[in-house]
Amino acid sequence: MEQSDVVHDLIIIGGGAAGLTAAVYAGRAAIVPLVLSGGMPGGQISSTALVENFPGFPEGVNGIDLAMSFQQQAEHFGAEIVMEPATEVDFSVQPFLVKTHSETYHGRTVIVATGAFPRRLGIPGEHEFFGRGVSTCATCDGFLYKRKTTVVIGGGDSAIDEGLFLCKFAKEVIVVHRRDQLRAHKQLQERAFANPKMRFVWDSVAEEILGNETVHGVRVRKVKTDERQVLDTDGVFIYVGLIPATKIFREQVELDDAGYVITDDHKRTSVPGVFAAGDVENPDFRQCVVAAGSGATAAIQAERYLSKHPI
Ligand code: NAP
Repeated sequence: MEQSDVVHDLIIIGGGAAGLTAAVYAGRAAIVPLVLSGGMPGGQISSTALVENFPGFPEGVNGIDLAMSFQQQAEHFGAEIVMEPATEVDFSVQPFLVKTHSETYHGRTVIVATGAFPRRLGIPGEHEFFGRGVSTCATCDGFLYKRKTTVVIGGGDSAIDEGLFLCKFAKEVIVVHRRDQLRAHKQLQERAFANPKMRFVWDSVAEEILGNETVHGVRVRKVKTDERQVLDTDGVFIYVGLIPATKIFREQVELDDAGYVITDDHKRTSVPGVFAAGDVENPDFRQCVVAAGSGATAAIQAERYLSKHPI
């Protein structure tokens, strides 16, 4: 049978902590979920150097290792994982329709677990030098900066966590933050302030990334005085928050003003049979364990929905 003729009980869109946990729960409930994981499964967790707050790992765990474990566990329970992103959905028909670049899938239920992606600053040089000195993933690119200077922009958990990871390679990590206080949690702050390689440029925003073939500096402005200075650097890592990956769901399910999928306590969206889990529906916590928990809830609800709506 052609794939386009198959009706899947459950299609999970997204292969991060929420999507893969949903796949584990669905698999254990004898549903064979199809997971459209986009690129590499794991989502944001794959670009986290050290995950210290996922239960069961007292010493912490490398993000990629954790992501691979999620995937193996989902496959162990029968999930079919396709490493393609969904490009279009139609939730107005039943079965629901989910398209990728190469295939059209049909699903009786869908879990949206597409997460969120890094926000960009929109300053000159950011786009031009992306991949040539500008990055949003120290875990991926940090090793390129052995004994070099790097600038990290942002003051949240990601900026400090990834900045600390960069300290393993770089000779100096300069954190540029728009306020005089970090948003990152206290333990990360303590480690950052104790690290001799980390330096802070407070109350400052980046205005332009400078370079020729590769990056050689960032022009920053003090927000209180408008004083400008150029920080010499070999790389710029940007961590200024996340944007929900909901472009293809506009007009399909209800989104809030910031673009997050609106769900109820049971992870139901505005469309019966469509559920959402993880960072795509919850901007408040953005923790791997929270995403995993919501994935479990969504899968249990999908299973209940399927039981109540037999073919
Ligand atoms: P975030 O918590 O939203 O922090 C974004 C940071 O960027 C803030 O410091 C913010 O400044 C700054 N910022 C935002 N827009 C900016 C702009 N236009 N110019 C300059 N600075 C700007 O994002 P995140 O750090 O990516 O974290 C996302 C979520 O993942 C959080 O809930 C976090 O707890 C979680 N996370 C957890 C861990 C962990 O537990 N180890 C690791 C990574 C992420 P202000 O502070 O002034 O708002």
